[in-house]
Amino acid sequence: MKKLKIYNSFSRELSDFSSIDPKNEYVGMYVCGPTVYNEVHLGNCRTFVSFDIVYRYLLHKAYKVRYVRNITDVGHLEGDADSGAESKIDQRARLERLEPMEIVQKYSNLFHHVMQQLNTLPPSIEPTATGHIVEQIEMVKQIIANGYGYEKNGSVYFNTRKLIEENKGYGTLSGKLVDDLLNESRDNLKNQDEKEHPSDFAIWVKASPTHIMRWPSPWGEGFPGWHLECSAMSTKYLGQTFDIHGGGMDLQFPHHENEIAQNLGACGCQPVRYWMHGNMLVLNGKKMSKSDGNYIMPRELFAGSSPLMTKAYSPMTLRFFMLQAHYRSTLNITEEAMQGAEIGLQRLMEANAVLQELQYSGEANNTDLDAKINSIIDAAFGEMDNDFNTPNALAELFGLVSEIQKFHNKQQSLNLISEATLNRLKDSFKALIFDVFGLMDETAANDSSAEMLDGLMQMIIEFRKEAREQKNWAKSDLIRDELLKLGIQIKDGKEGASWTKL
Ligand SMILES: [Zn+2]
Repeated sequence: MKKLKIYNSFSRELSDFSSIDPKNEYVGMYVCGPTVYNEVHLGNCRTFVSFDIVYRYLLHKAYKVRYVRNITDVGHLEGDADSGAESKIDQRARLERLEPMEIVQKYSNLFHHVMQQLNTLPPSIEPTATGHIVEQIEMVKQIIANGYGYEKNGSVYFNTRKLIEENKGYGTLSGKLVDDLLNESRDNLKNQDEKEHPSDFAIWVKASPTHIMRWPSPWGEGFPGWHLECSAMSTKYLGQTFDIHGGGMDLQFPHHENEIAQNLGACGCQPVRYWMHGNMLVLNGKKMSKSDGNYIMPRELFAGSSPLMTKAYSPMTLRFFMLQAHYRSTLNITEEAMQGAEIGLQRLMEANAVLQELQYSGEANNTDLDAKINSIIDAAFGEMDNDFNTPNALAELFGLVSEIQKFHNKQQSLNLISEATLNRLKDSFKALIFDVFGLMDETAANDSSAEMLDGLMQMIIEFRKEAREQKNWAKSDLIRDELLKLGIQIKDGKEGASWTKL
């Protein structure tokens, strides 16, 4: 019943999924979260939406999932060397004249806001790197004790050569050969002289005098290397070996490769059973880049303030658009594609509204149409079982949309399907669009909030009327003035008070 195939980027093959839990009930999933020194960009949103769908589908299949997604709030250097450069969070703090943790809080809040707009489910645990310094220091100690780490001038480096010589598979995930690893490391890292081997990387970095975010450690004041937090926090919450680790494709090297190295160094075990990587989002066929102006922030897309789009597109339109490509394929965002997504989303929601109102009216047995509808439903879930193939599942769903339209237009009779099939169609359609795809009917949301606002306003008008009857003019004026600040005007008339939005 729980058949599910996942493409494992470590083994590079599609394989049957079974969790580490002997009963195949519990799943541990870790996804690399945002670095909170800036607003989350659209590419990151795609990654988080992709893994939200993985999480939702596992829940739909009745798995009990512990989903951990971290917040990277330790300021890291551009390289991992003690070059005296400020970390990105420190830098931003100076620019905006804020405390580093104020930056972290501000961008964490913004990140959560965007995730909520996109209707992603919150993870079960959202640990922060700064909240797990103790665990990270313990892991460094363990790595040193096992002979995979060494200290130089207050920094600690991971000994990749030992891992390579022992043939433990450093480079397997990213498919890099040792020579490539050496070359890439030389390009990336500034502080080669402290390292015994060019592909070694820092797991603890000595803080320069100007570095604000710093912690005491057995090696002096410093901060953990970027890759370390994910190793330490996934081990703490999911165990030394866990089921699924996800992230964007750009994190395969060096981040995930080095995570594996650290876990091997600390406990001698491969940390992850299924590695999953989401592909890039490009804009108008080109990589997004601020300097080229080929760039849109989520809020610009939602507000319609980007010069690259002629109008606003809602968060659900963006989410629907993302479903139209498999998470392992590149996705190209264009105005035309967003317009198409807007229409597609609307068709899906309208079909659902029509479907839920259909009433069973006859008795049908084993008709072709009955079999056809059941097989489309099976195919839609089958596509999700095949490495979360949302575009194909969506295509099946649109096959159901045309059947629903035919019932609605009386082109085909509801008598041709059984009551059980109609009920299954209603339930499956709702489950796929709302629970699994995580779409919301935005028009319904707007209607209900308008209703709520009207209810609240009637209540406030009633309170104000009471105040006036008690000749409490100060209170009645205060209510009027505070509402004005919110853009709402109260008008007193013969029929009583009424309100309008300004
Ligand atoms: Zn990570």
